[in-house]
Amino acid sequence: MVVPQTPRTALSPDDVDRAVGLQRISRRIMRALTERSGPGIDEAIDEALAEVGEFCGVDRSYTFLFRAEMTRIDNAHEWCAPGIVPAIETLQDVDAEVASTWIEAFERDEHVFIRSVAAIPDDEAELREILAEQDIQSLLVAPLRAGGELFGFMGFDYVRRETELSWVDLDVLLVIADNIAAAMARRRHEELARSATAADLLTELPNRVAFAGALDLALERARPVAERRVEHPPPPEGVPERRADTIRSGIVVGLIDIDAFAEVNTALGFAAGDDLIRAIAGRLRAHMRPGDLLARIGGDDFAVLVEGSRDEDSGQALASRLRAALADTYLVRGRAISVTGSVGVVVDDGTFAHSSALLAAVEAALREAKHDGGNRSMVFDADIAVRHERRQRLTAALRAADSQQHVTVLYQPVVELASDRIVGAESLARWSAPTTGPVAPDVFIALAEEIGVIGRLTSHIMRTALADLTERFLPAATDRFSLSVNLSAAHVAEPGFLPEFESLVTDSGVDRARLWVELTESVVTAGPVVIDHLEAVRASGIGVAVDDFGTGYSSFARLRNLPFTGIKIDRAFVAGIQHDPVAQALVAAQVEIAENLGLSLLAEGVETAEERETLSGLGVRYGQGYGLHRPMDADTLAGLLAAGA
Ligand code: C2E
Ligand code: CA
Ligand code: CA
Repeated sequence: MVVPQTPRTALSPDDVDRAVGLQRISRRIMRALTERSGPGIDEAIDEALAEVGEFCGVDRSYTFLFRAEMTRIDNAHEWCAPGIVPAIETLQDVDAEVASTWIEAFERDEHVFIRSVAAIPDDEAELREILAEQDIQSLLVAPLRAGGELFGFMGFDYVRRETELSWVDLDVLLVIADNIAAAMARRRHEELARSATAADLLTELPNRVAFAGALDLALERARPVAERRVEHPPPPEGVPERRADTIRSGIVVGLIDIDAFAEVNTALGFAAGDDLIRAIAGRLRAHMRPGDLLARIGGDDFAVLVEGSRDEDSGQALASRLRAALADTYLVRGRAISVTGSVGVVVDDGTFAHSSALLAAVEAALREAKHDGGNRSMVFDADIAVRHERRQRLTAALRAADSQQHVTVLYQPVVELASDRIVGAESLARWSAPTTGPVAPDVFIALAEEIGVIGRLTSHIMRTALADLTERFLPAATDRFSLSVNLSAAHVAEPGFLPEFESLVTDSGVDRARLWVELTESVVTAGPVVIDHLEAVRASGIGVAVDDFGTGYSSFARLRNLPFTGIKIDRAFVAGIQHDPVAQALVAAQVEIAENLGLSLLAEGVETAEERETLSGLGVRYGQGYGLHRPMDADTLAGLLAAGA
């Protein structure tokens, strides 16, 4: 009676005709389900039930949805042939127990076809009675599932006669059930996106979770039906192979990132930053078309999902549309702020299986758009794909990296320019994994920050450097030697940073006066947490230096309020300084201000004797650079120190 797997018997010419007709209906239904949204989806389901019902000579077609952890069922949609009494009203909040044998089948992803209700055996008498009460003679019920979740079933009742369905009929009906399920899931998702849990409170737009869910469903819909059905035994002889249904709704995803948004927060405060985000959200929303999904997926990141466009340049079109929407000035708390944005776009070409892959691609496009100052757009293409792939490989390798083995530390000496003596060293990380070969530190440090392993990496580097300091450098050095380690703001910002940093330093037993940490100038725009943590580091007696000074936004005025005790003049000021009066004037000013603020000063990137002379002449006491010493391993440095360098 229960027919989980209909035997693939040969088809009569009538069967084939019917199957072709059903296929046509199926395609039409799929298109309607895909194109509509919101309540339109329910209408499309009603129409689908009617169309299939009429075509198959069914008396009643319907859907039921589970509720309360599958213990209750509700009749959600119903179509009745003329003369059949609707039952939907009476079939609300029904105990799911009545359908328990079906549900068991649904959970195995099987449908149930009962050719003759009268022939249901006595051990299922209850079911037989319930069906007979409604005059049902034959029936088909099939699971509604999407994204692996079983959430209801679809059914066809034959009241006036017993009926036989061929396996092709069944096959097509099951495809229709799948499409209805996907549409229902989307409808539910749209609702979710509108509800508070899926919305970003600041802008009331859907948030990242809602966006990813909507994207998954869009991809699910876009995939050809044939791919979606799990098994396809070859049709028996004489039956044409079923063609994959290739109707797809094109998917284009855009990501928008506001350039230098952190600057706005720093300059105007977080409340004004919030106002700006709200204003930008409003502007973007006004530029959306019906059916577009706009979400705020992060601080200053917005995402847009466009379905149904397939033309070649639709990616470029979306990019221009978004950048145009952003452009111009915003009035925030009485101040006019002009904003630019970077946009990444990806056009789904059918190769992205999951939303995560598509999102990774669009993030790659955005990353390239942001590179070198941003304010432009990039559409994911083959070139980006290659770089993205390399990056993915690096990411995987870095995550898996056994830092004990593959991350080593070099030391670049700091020299007192007047005496030529080594008074300290900076630790510089090196990474070379078997799968990737050596990777430039700027690259892997940035990557480690982004994927959240910078803390682990830095701990390893610090442990190595502190051990080298206590065991090899200090025993060989004069009493002036100090070690400087690079820290990333992203790491310092972590809640666990201070205790871990403290215990590393304490365990090493090193005198804090011999330690420096250095952070690039961008910390000036970092949040208050970073500043608090650095304040604590400084208060414990460790030096805190600004790295690459002069390349970013910081000014001496700002430095005054921050816990810095040293400055490293960027090598951009040092290169060719002997020929550059402007650079000389700037360095002279830096020397003077550093003295006034009691900050120690060091020049980076000293490559030539002329540069070194000029810097000394301007009053810079310490230097680092290839012209003094290149980065070297611990053995070499210990040797130099032992030789009295
Ligand atoms: P940085 O902290 O500014 O380090 C100085 C960089 O300039 C080093 O490159 C060094 O080898 C290079 N350099 C030194 N003298 C000269 C010179 O005279 N001429 C030129 N052209 N270059 C010179 P490296 O080792 O490739 O490091 C690059 C960046 O990677 C570092 O810049 C730093 O930002 C980051 N980094 C390296 N190790 C670490 C680490 O352990 N932690 C963190 N957070 N960042 C690190
Ligand atoms: Ca440095
Ligand atoms: Ca530097």
